[in-house]
Amino acid sequence: MTSDGVPQRAGNNLDPWYANYADRAAGFAASEVRALFAVASRPEVVSLAGGMPYVSALPQELITAAFERTMREQGPVALQYGSGQGIPALREHILEVMSLEGIRASVDNVVTSTGSQQALDFVAKLFLDPGDVVLAEAPSYVGAMGVFRSYQASVVHVAMDDEGLIPEALRETIAHLRGQGRRIKFLYTIPNFHNPAGVTLSAARRPEILEICRANEILVLEDNPYGLLHFDEPAPDALRSMDPEGVIYLGSFSKTLAPGFRVGWALAPHAIREKLILAAESAILSPSSFSQLVVSEYLSQADWRGQIDAFRGVYRERKDAMIEALGEYLPQLSWTNPNGGFYVWVTLPDVLDSKQMLPRAVRELVAYTPGTAFFADGRGRHAMRLSFCYPTPDAIRLGIRRLATVVNGELDL
Ligand code: PMP
Repeated sequence: MTSDGVPQRAGNNLDPWYANYADRAAGFAASEVRALFAVASRPEVVSLAGGMPYVSALPQELITAAFERTMREQGPVALQYGSGQGIPALREHILEVMSLEGIRASVDNVVTSTGSQQALDFVAKLFLDPGDVVLAEAPSYVGAMGVFRSYQASVVHVAMDDEGLIPEALRETIAHLRGQGRRIKFLYTIPNFHNPAGVTLSAARRPEILEICRANEILVLEDNPYGLLHFDEPAPDALRSMDPEGVIYLGSFSKTLAPGFRVGWALAPHAIREKLILAAESAILSPSSFSQLVVSEYLSQADWRGQIDAFRGVYRERKDAMIEALGEYLPQLSWTNPNGGFYVWVTLPDVLDSKQMLPRAVRELVAYTPGTAFFADGRGRHAMRLSFCYPTPDAIRLGIRRLATVVNGELDL
């Protein structure tokens, strides 16, 4: 008690409010990716670390036109609160986008959000109690694991290979956890052009994964921001297209248009949609009317499919530059060769530790994301994620050459 009768807080020196935080705040830790952004954004560093889309490839004038038309023709709507579920015209466009992946759905079941990141949060808020288990690929998207951790759930990884999640490993993990009395709430999966692993779940495995989840009454959370960014063959049809009642699908305009709009969505099974809308309304009242309308206007007027093709061309060239440079400068390592998306997963010899090696890499003016960021259980030291989405092919080659200096230096070659 202080002299004026106010209870003394059991804080620490840096944060006097420390003792007042909810238990869940213990799970709020700055991701390794975030800490890296500060370093990697220095212009002399070739950053193969972040996943920033190459927005300079966008037709700026068409976006400006969409913006101006929105204000001229729908200003009062754009500046007003909207429906908690999202603007109907945009939800119609979203159905069109999802139809490219084999999904047929009703606008009633689409809920727009502030990026798919927020949809992840709504789903987690709706389903996760402390101690619940979320199954996820090994490795998995760092931002999703952060959300699950913030609701005090545990992520348990399931092994994957070049064809994505391994069905037998999924079966065994479920049986093992059930044997321990653990409550599994959902399987979080990134079936296409995985972040960070760069692999795609094969068409043959898709029905099998769904069958295992259905038999075990486990909901599937399908996160698919990269699905339309394929280099050759399109990705197999979405999991959601095969099981509308057992899958919540998350989509985003961040990679096919621009992340600055912060527009994403969830397509929920009909039974879940009402609760999801309530979760959204309680968090934000309504998503940004302005952003949704500009995106909707752009999709109405622009050749957005052609624009996605242009992105595919840009990313394909960069991916080829990265794979070629790895072959030339770092033949002693192994890596995935993705058919789409933004990422290559590199496996290092056991004697190398990607986290410990990072300061040396930054001194050599190249940045990557250590593999440990993508595991909830401390694994990943002998791996790293390289992203090819943002730097030019020449910068990528330079970055890989610098990385080779680092790796060879560590190996004492
Ligand atoms: N899921 C995955 C797999 C991602 O890589 C990202 C972005 N890096 C997101 C979700 C979130 O994207 P956004 O909120 O921009 O839609």
